[in-house]
Amino acid sequence: YFASVLDGFVVFVFIALIVFAIRRGIFRPKQLTSFLHGPWDGFIILGLIFLVIFTLAFVEGFQYAVSQEWTPIGAFLGPLLASAGPQVALAGYRVSWWLHMFTVLGFLIYLPRSKHLHLLATPFNVFFSNYQPKGALPMLENIEEREDYGVSKVEQFTWKQLLDGYACTECGRCNTVCPAMNTGKPLYPKEIILGVKEELFERSDEILSDNTIFSKLGLVKLKTDETETEHQPMIGGTISKEALWSCTSCMACMEICPVAIEHVPKIIDMRRSLVMEESEFPQEVTSLFNNIERNGNPWEISNDTRAEWAAELAVPLMGENPDADVLYWVGCMGSFDLRNKKVSTAVAKILQAAKVNFAILGPEETCTGDPARRIGNEYLWQTQAQQNIETLNNYGFNLAGQENGHASHNGHSTDTTKHRTIITACPHCFNTIKNEYPQLGGNYDVVHHTVFIEQLMSKGEITLPEGFDKRKLTYHDPCYIGRYNDVYDEPRRVLTVLNNNVTEMRRNRNKSFCCGGGGGRAWMEEKVGKRVNQTRVNEALETNAEVLAASCPFCITMFEDGVKGIEAEEKLKIEDISEIIASAIEK
Ligand code: SF4
Ligand code: SF4
Repeated sequence: YFASVLDGFVVFVFIALIVFAIRRGIFRPKQLTSFLHGPWDGFIILGLIFLVIFTLAFVEGFQYAVSQEWTPIGAFLGPLLASAGPQVALAGYRVSWWLHMFTVLGFLIYLPRSKHLHLLATPFNVFFSNYQPKGALPMLENIEEREDYGVSKVEQFTWKQLLDGYACTECGRCNTVCPAMNTGKPLYPKEIILGVKEELFERSDEILSDNTIFSKLGLVKLKTDETETEHQPMIGGTISKEALWSCTSCMACMEICPVAIEHVPKIIDMRRSLVMEESEFPQEVTSLFNNIERNGNPWEISNDTRAEWAAELAVPLMGENPDADVLYWVGCMGSFDLRNKKVSTAVAKILQAAKVNFAILGPEETCTGDPARRIGNEYLWQTQAQQNIETLNNYGFNLAGQENGHASHNGHSTDTTKHRTIITACPHCFNTIKNEYPQLGGNYDVVHHTVFIEQLMSKGEITLPEGFDKRKLTYHDPCYIGRYNDVYDEPRRVLTVLNNNVTEMRRNRNKSFCCGGGGGRAWMEEKVGKRVNQTRVNEALETNAEVLAASCPFCITMFEDGVKGIEAEEKLKIEDISEIIASAIEK
């Protein structure tokens, strides 16, 4: 029985080898190639697997010829091999057996330096994968006292980040979905992972000789001035700076990776080193950093004017309505950007129509720090986050504080025992407040505006005229609420109440294609390749939709630029879901 299962497996592997050899040798999918090493590793592995099953088949065949011991392959090959005579069959059996053993042992020696190491590393990589919120970047602890900021040398990565390199199957799926790679930027997420692994191999003697158990056991030489060799820096050497700056942090690579490899935290760790240790970043973001630091927003605009968009809407500030059930976190784009102020107005009108007791922070709100963190300025993110957490806690929004009493702010006493919610129309604010502020003690109930609107609708607090919007419409899933926070259904449910003509783009939900604005890219120039925003707008146009609905101020800005860039303003309107709802309410 065992022999039949084994031989069935041998036949299956043989067919698979032919298929994969044809794929690799003839079709040569681009994602399987790597700049860091040629295609030979794949062929060597296919060859070794072939040798293992080939020699096994001959072991069985000669064994049958010598002793009539039945196995399916033996019974097939044995009679052919027996014709050479018993002495030859016995010698053939011994030679095949030794060849089989040498191939298996040779494979084991080759394995640790080959991509096939993923067979051993993958189970551990998946088991130890990050179970924290996937939208949260790891925090740099004790930032004031640290001597290093981020990662410039491979040994500064955590052991889990290094294990990622061993687990990589080099399938290249991450490359195929990367918006940067797809639009001609010099970023190949697979090469980032392989680059880290390559760097580790390059510097392995140096790292292991650094007074570790290996040097104590005499397995490697202790590092001395003579043994120390000069290596080119990892960033700018094996991993290019242009690649690091091309990333939109869309997380498409992490979502598709079959072995739970985490690309984005590594890219941000290396950006942190560039920004905080080397002061090296695209010069366009200098003003972003300065303005967030000075004005609490990305522009040269006084933060005192943050609530001006709401002047005619009678929206109270938290200082005026400290017991509001809901805080509408407007965000910098919603407060200052001309296009996105219309979205803020729409959200406020929806809340008013639903009679929600809400308020905004106005000048007390300041940038969440998300763009700074994604660009690599962790220090600025922590400063912004601490300031916002203090404000939110003073108004009693911290879930921990709600369990035990009162807070006061500016002389106002606030009932902190009641459950209070923060809503925001910005997925970047949403993600950082919900998933990253807990790293600094700020735990809040944060809801994206599309989810909140859906809740209002299902509770009957707003009713919308069904089928009100007759236009053909498609919805773009923003990365920071889609892949980052798995919000896919609520925006669609809201839209389909109003509109029976909602269609999907070919890349949707967790496969959605980035607008190009995440990871701080909205603040950087895009000088290489096609524009990411235009690529996505073209995908929307393929559906013949008249409206591209979004739910992120960055997506809206990127798409507005995108339609202008390809002169499609007349064909495709860009609207936030809240704008569509608000116009339905007003009718
Ligand atoms: S996060 Fe997005 S842009 Fe960055 S490497 Fe991954 S797929 Fe590419
Ligand atoms: S998708 Fe994952 S396993 Fe495949 S090449 Fe990319 S990092 Fe490696």
